[in-house]
Amino acid sequence: MSNYDFDLFTIGAGSGGVRASRVSAAYGAKVAVAEEHRVGGTCVIRGCVPKKMLVYGAHFAEDLEDCKRFGWEIGERRFDWTVLRDNVLADVDRLEGAYTDTLENHDVTIFHERAEITGPHEITLASGKVVTAKYILIATGARPQLPDFEGVEHGITSNEAFHLDALPKKIIIAGGGYIANEFAGIFNEFGSDVCLVNRGDQLLRGYDEALRDRLLQISIMKGIDFKFNTLFEYIRPSDDGGFLAKLTGCDEEHVDVVMFATGRSPNTEGLGLENVDVELGEKGEIPVDQFSKTNVDHIYAVGDVTNRVQLTPVAIREGQAFADTVFGDGDPVAADHSCIPSAVFSHPPIASVGLTEGEARNSLGSIKVYQSDFRPMKNVLAGRNERSLMKMICDAESDRIVGIHMIAPEAPEMMQAAAIAVKAGLTKADFDATVAIHPTMAEELVLMR
Ligand code: NDP
Repeated sequence: MSNYDFDLFTIGAGSGGVRASRVSAAYGAKVAVAEEHRVGGTCVIRGCVPKKMLVYGAHFAEDLEDCKRFGWEIGERRFDWTVLRDNVLADVDRLEGAYTDTLENHDVTIFHERAEITGPHEITLASGKVVTAKYILIATGARPQLPDFEGVEHGITSNEAFHLDALPKKIIIAGGGYIANEFAGIFNEFGSDVCLVNRGDQLLRGYDEALRDRLLQISIMKGIDFKFNTLFEYIRPSDDGGFLAKLTGCDEEHVDVVMFATGRSPNTEGLGLENVDVELGEKGEIPVDQFSKTNVDHIYAVGDVTNRVQLTPVAIREGQAFADTVFGDGDPVAADHSCIPSAVFSHPPIASVGLTEGEARNSLGSIKVYQSDFRPMKNVLAGRNERSLMKMICDAESDRIVGIHMIAPEAPEMMQAAAIAVKAGLTKADFDATVAIHPTMAEELVLMR
């Protein structure tokens, strides 16, 4: 019999926290979870899920344009942001309910309030209630980080983008990463005048250079404006309800919205970590070992708060591995962080797994690069001058595929399957031996020269 109120107390009901809590409970643990905002966390409430719905909504702009060449005549077109916004938010409500049901069906106690660690095994809730737990799991995620300059508080982040009252006529998006490129595509397709502003001269650091160049080229063609090597000097309110934004080396500009997508910081403040001597890293993250254990034996952390790989499926894997390790019957399970596929839901999307050409050249020395640069059949008939690019990087010595990179319609869908092969260590010859499915874009994977 445990002397504690709970076997596990999880702080944060996002992707990692929910998976860890549910699976631990299924193993028989008595589990509680505290969530100060909404069950589901960033991915479900204000991230991946509603973002993908906006991406779908945005893509209709191109489909409605392209359909003419396929014989369809459409009358007057009009986009109503509030209809899409409200439908997306309603679906987010539904998903929050589904996540709550999942926890409740596993008899996980949910505290809808903030929690702070106040003793080695003690948690104090915002209401003043004190509970104890044998293990504590921190799964509090991350939040948008903002640069520091005059008027930064007038900007929004992706958190607020889903709730805008109206579509901005002109929006400046700061940052050159995932969120900036995804939302630049979304607002541009909806008809906003979009300017992406980046402090450096590279988009999507970490992705293969050829794909990043292709996205930049296509985005410019679609009408997105880019400003590189630029920082904000100020944002000031203007008389008409908009803002005046001043960037270094540029004239002051009038905009309706400035959105910051300049990275995310781990949520570790106010958790009482100092009360139990949990060590923090340089960026405020919680360093953990391969089993997601902190420097304190019974305190673990999973997901973005650990700043390992800020991706939902990774947090879920870490949460699962934690539950298997601490409450399962078998050997400890380490979350595997190798060969993680990822995607940017830009217009068109990018997807990638393994080493970029540059990384492979540096680490392997001798590599072979296969490439397919083509205009998808649908784009040809639509008269859309937008080319796709696929790259396969192989170790020249063993023929093993060490990376695949694509920018193409549906690239993330194709990549999920291709990533299995890369993870499994297959060779170019294995791909060549596979018969193509014709006509598809994916057949390029087995036809690359
Ligand atoms: P990213 O890390 O992708 O990009 C941050 C961008 O902001 C970079 O261009 C960076 O420039 C720039 N930046 C950082 N600090 C400053 C600053 N002080 N002033 C100006 N610019 C700055 O972060 P995001 O916010 O786009 O996304 C956060 C994380 O969320 C991602 O890393 C990703 O892991 C996850 N995510 C994943 C998605 C997906 O899987 N599709 C979608 C959305 C988010 P520089 O390159 O010079 O550092």
